[in-house]
Amino acid sequence: MAHAIHYTITPHCLQHEYLVELYIDTPGPEGVCVSLPAWIPGSYLVRDFAKNIVEIAAQTSDGAPLAISKRDKDSWLLAPHDGPVIVRYRVYAWDISVRTAYLDETRAFFNGTSVFLQVHGAEACPQHVSLKAPQAADDGWSVATAMQAVEVDDDGFGDYVAPNYDELIDHPVEMGRLHRLSFTVADIPHEMVFVGHDGCEGLSIDFPRIAKDVQQACEHHVALFGELPPIERYVFMTMVVGEGYGGLEHRASTALLCSYEDLPRLGEDDVNERYRNFLGLCSHEYFHTWNVKRIKPAAFTPFDYQRENYTQLLWAFEGITSYYDDYSLCRTQLITPESYLELVGRLLTRLARNPGRLRQSVCESSFDAWTKFYKQDESAPNVIVSYYVKGAVIALMLDLKLRQASLSLDDVMRLLWQRYGDEETGVPEHNGVDGVQQAINDVAGQDWSMFFAQALHGTDDLPVAEHLVAFGVECSWRTAANDADVGGKPAKGLAVATGMRVRGHNGGVKIQQVLSNSAGEAAGLAAGDQLVALNDARVSLALWNRQLARARVGDIWQIHYFRRDELRSASMVVQAAPLDTCHLRLMDDDVLEESVAQRRHAWLGV
Ligand code: ZN
Repeated sequence: MAHAIHYTITPHCLQHEYLVELYIDTPGPEGVCVSLPAWIPGSYLVRDFAKNIVEIAAQTSDGAPLAISKRDKDSWLLAPHDGPVIVRYRVYAWDISVRTAYLDETRAFFNGTSVFLQVHGAEACPQHVSLKAPQAADDGWSVATAMQAVEVDDDGFGDYVAPNYDELIDHPVEMGRLHRLSFTVADIPHEMVFVGHDGCEGLSIDFPRIAKDVQQACEHHVALFGELPPIERYVFMTMVVGEGYGGLEHRASTALLCSYEDLPRLGEDDVNERYRNFLGLCSHEYFHTWNVKRIKPAAFTPFDYQRENYTQLLWAFEGITSYYDDYSLCRTQLITPESYLELVGRLLTRLARNPGRLRQSVCESSFDAWTKFYKQDESAPNVIVSYYVKGAVIALMLDLKLRQASLSLDDVMRLLWQRYGDEETGVPEHNGVDGVQQAINDVAGQDWSMFFAQALHGTDDLPVAEHLVAFGVECSWRTAANDADVGGKPAKGLAVATGMRVRGHNGGVKIQQVLSNSAGEAAGLAAGDQLVALNDARVSLALWNRQLARARVGDIWQIHYFRRDELRSASMVVQAAPLDTCHLRLMDDDVLEESVAQRRHAWLGV
């Protein structure tokens, strides 16, 4: 049977290459253009995936060679031919991240953006895929993907179909020795697969507990939006490694990367910090099934896969999602309110330690994600703000402000879902008030443009603490205790700070970042400087930290260092440490007014 577009994928494990055969039934009289996307939705950086195509050739259906010429960095033009043509190409796959493709004899993973050439003019046609079992693979491989199966064997190898190109590249595929879990949410089958460390055999991981906990987080999101988007099933695909963390959202699945230490072992029943992070990651990516995969910027409808797609709204898609990822764990009692407030304390600490918050707004951060947030260098803490971090703080403030009027951010999300999610029409962002601001105004029943000007377009600090007090939560600030102190808990802080982030290197100390208006900046020190002596003694990281713990404001440190290959010296006047480390505390019940206690109960369940 002839299909309009049909890809056949054969993994060649030892070469780390996918062999792809693309069959095009009717290429058209002018020839046809094929290209790979330059970026993958959800990760806002031009990555030029076509650079991993290592061979490409075309032929007619009777085997005669057909001319194919490269047009630019990621597209090719096929010579005109009256009849079906086949493009055969190989894709190098050796990236363990969730954004591209990977292949060895233990595991195969790919995003469609890495392997499926877009056939220009045929994007709206059904796109057929045949997955072949790999050569030279370990035994026991099976397939996990949310793509619709047409005819597959017991292990999932065989034929799949996507209704169009956008969907085709939004169903990543995981293959290997998979540990599979399943549960149901809103009558829809959900599956979690784990690959790596031989399917996690022998690690005594408490998989039933993971399924139960993740199911609860999923049910929270479905209840919030009122329905699951129209999907046949949902798949969490998790690559388990020694050390690693990340996730990428898709329309009916997510690709996750975590450490086996993040997963609970049999017999453990507390939620430790690492498992809390893993649950937060699952919760985050699942929330995206609504927020960004369907409620999405108008700038993404349709996606332009060849270049940057600009939007000021990433603060809403990533920030609101970042607020709900942890908050939903508290709401479902997977974590305690105290544990949740620790996470909020850490969030506020991250923002406070980022001088760039005073220079870039979250809307600017969103718009420039492609060249700033995703291309960070040593200046990043001083010049940019994260639309994840500040976006989550804004979402928290919005929720608290709305809750004071007996409303909530849930109402805004439901309205956005009704307006833009069902039909995937795209959230408009022109004429000053974008679709997110409009939904907030409509829910609040008032014009919040003053707040938007301050929070979304401004760079002044936001009065978060005032809002928290209205919910019986006290916000305290102290100095950092050491380099590993991420906030969230009370601790005895240091008296002084250098305003520099350093690490041990070559037996000495290397400066990684120098914060604006810090002692290090005033002394002329810069990122990359290799410190060799402190007060005429050879410096190690241990000595540096000991001196820091004993120093007093106004002490003068003599520093010898190399800048590149040039020996230099500096005098640094040690400054008082900033109050940049936050922890939150539930205020005692007996000091709370009844209305405050009620609001807090509605928000945190205490
Ligand atoms: Zn996200």
